[in-house]
Amino acid sequence: NHDLRAQKLQQQTILIAMGLIGAACGALAWAFGRIRKANARLLFESQHDALTALHNRRYFNETVLVRGTGGPFQGCVLLIDLDHFKQVNDTFGHPAGDAILAAVGERMTKALRASDLLVRWGGEEFLALLDPMSDAELNAATHRILSAIREEPVVWNGQRIPCTVSIGCARFPIRGMGVAVSLERAIGLVDQALYEAKRRGRNRACLLTAVTAETERELAAINADFAAATADRRVLLVESIATGPAGGSGIGVGGAGGVHSASVGGLRG
Ligand code: GH3
Ligand code: MG
Ligand code: MG
Repeated sequence: NHDLRAQKLQQQTILIAMGLIGAACGALAWAFGRIRKANARLLFESQHDALTALHNRRYFNETVLVRGTGGPFQGCVLLIDLDHFKQVNDTFGHPAGDAILAAVGERMTKALRASDLLVRWGGEEFLALLDPMSDAELNAATHRILSAIREEPVVWNGQRIPCTVSIGCARFPIRGMGVAVSLERAIGLVDQALYEAKRRGRNRACLLTAVTAETERELAAINADFAAATADRRVLLVESIATGPAGGSGIGVGGAGGVHSASVGGLRG
């Protein structure tokens, strides 16, 4: 009788212990799941911009630039900058500006392919990296971006706010360029094309189609005075101007139609 009771007690103890172990395992699994989710969220937040949910510059520097290891870059680079954005903030307020940035990010994402990388590069500037394609295809991609942003004003708090962007872009290697450039230097050249698009009146894309530079010295001279290099045709650009509807209260834009290209030096695949 005494033995039987002892045996029963032992069985109960084992059952309780097993239950406790099971509960502990469950709690651990739950905690690990929470930690995994929290880590994934932290990783996402560290690699994305909170306002637009696009990849941020840190992601670009830590993954894309590192992968490139400074070797010759092959592919397409676009730098996209909102026009007169300071004026938009001054007129409609900073929250309106934030809403426009988010909307522009969304529209550009839709205008690009899922495999393209779109990064919020700075305040109101974006960088897109596209796979190698012909100049004509790249021109078509810039048309899509210009139109997507210009054709419909962003509606914020019942107000229709028109916005436009300027784009500098190029496919690398660039025709005529004897010097291979890293992605960082490619971005530098495209930045010059963006500046040229701003200089020519904004709301347009300047696509670098040819750069005559056989040596580093010749390329440095072009970088030092890009406007002169464009004027004497060491640099050839194709310009696309967005002229579609841009309704609303009008900030530095006007006209109607579509997007048209003025080719200097021709489009070649
Ligand atoms: P441009 O056509 O020459 O590019 O003129 P711009 O006014 O767009 O350029 P500028 O560099 O003079 O001004 C950029 C403005 O973008 C100023 C800054 O307050 C605004 N900006 C930058 N980041 C943000 C942001 O996150 N939210 C809002 N609302 N505004 C921003
Ligand atoms: Mg701007
Ligand atoms: Mg800017």
